[in-house]
Amino acid sequence: MIKKVSSHKISIETFGCQMNEYDSQVARGFLEAAGFEVIGEGNGSDVYLMNTCSVREHAEDKVYSRLGKLSKIKKTKPEIIVGLMGCMVEEHKEKLFRRFPDLDFMVGTRNIKELPSLIEEVLRTRKQVAQIKRDGISIEYTDLIKRDNAFHAWLPIMTGCDKVCTYCIVPVTRGREVSMPAREVFREASRLVSEGVKHITLLGQNVNSYHGEKSVSFPQLLEMLCQIERLEQISFTTSHPHDATEELFQVIARNPKISRHFHLPLQSGSDRILKRMKRLHTYQDYKAKIDRLRELVPDISITTDMITGFSGETEEDHKATKRALEEIRFGGAYLFKYSLRPGTPAAKLPDDIPMDVKKRRHHELLEIQKRISNKDFPFGINAS
Ligand code: SF4
Repeated sequence: MIKKVSSHKISIETFGCQMNEYDSQVARGFLEAAGFEVIGEGNGSDVYLMNTCSVREHAEDKVYSRLGKLSKIKKTKPEIIVGLMGCMVEEHKEKLFRRFPDLDFMVGTRNIKELPSLIEEVLRTRKQVAQIKRDGISIEYTDLIKRDNAFHAWLPIMTGCDKVCTYCIVPVTRGREVSMPAREVFREASRLVSEGVKHITLLGQNVNSYHGEKSVSFPQLLEMLCQIERLEQISFTTSHPHDATEELFQVIARNPKISRHFHLPLQSGSDRILKRMKRLHTYQDYKAKIDRLRELVPDISITTDMITGFSGETEEDHKATKRALEEIRFGGAYLFKYSLRPGTPAAKLPDDIPMDVKKRRHHELLEIQKRISNKDFPFGINAS
């Protein structure tokens, strides 16, 4: 039972991925159970909490500009409290206190439960405090969670990543892979369904490398969850091509409950760049998996992520990526301009593609994908 410690108004602003959306829903649950009133973003809060993302410079810049604005507000309203959670806390830690003296508290992704007592401590002492645990799993299954949708639920099953894609900050901010035991995932999924949830999306930075107790694999976990009677649909994100196996494709094919939308980041069509990114596969490996999945599940729609302008990318590499979009004909693609992240292996490589070239290449990919999406998927992709 959580002791009611406060009646202050708090706003939670969430940046980044679905994992952060889930963490914000958990944070809201603990805060409301402790008596806080969680209100929409904006004015009138006593406490401003931001759940942050480090995946691209742009995401961090948004938080820095918010902190700048809140620091100005504090000049006239010194009683307000400002706090951060999420990946920027894991990446920068106490350095953020030095850079932003008006920042009052920080919680790591493994300490969300401690939010109420931490804020209470700041309200009492007006001193900066931080709780950033270094190990363990940052997943909290709790019936206190405040979901935004009565019929859909995010369900994280693992965190962290053991891959070392050179451009990626996730291994730094979320650590090594840790999977929730399959029996706990099954119990939480059953609990959600008993609350009326019909559609569950399984979350993980590299969801298909999930390994539960006794080495329950991701395909096996999916089949287990398909046994939950009133659960109508199961989706999952994000997958890595290296762990997209024949076993997984067979399980999707024989279970209509499993979503017919499959998101599989390719990142580049060039083998040279895939090697430089340490993606552990070639373009042809990826293409062969897509062909096999489409053979087994003809109504599958596939979306992807692409990074343009990665270190050393030549016009030839860019052409290979354009060819990949034309050849695979994705239902949709999230296209990003490469953003060097300090602390990643690629930070040692030159960020040598000028921004105007990144923009021009990004635009060309966007035009190709728009044309394909409009032609092949005029009514949008089969996201069901
Ligand atoms: S698999 Fe995904 S989360 Fe893991 S390092 Fe690569 S891009 Fe990052």
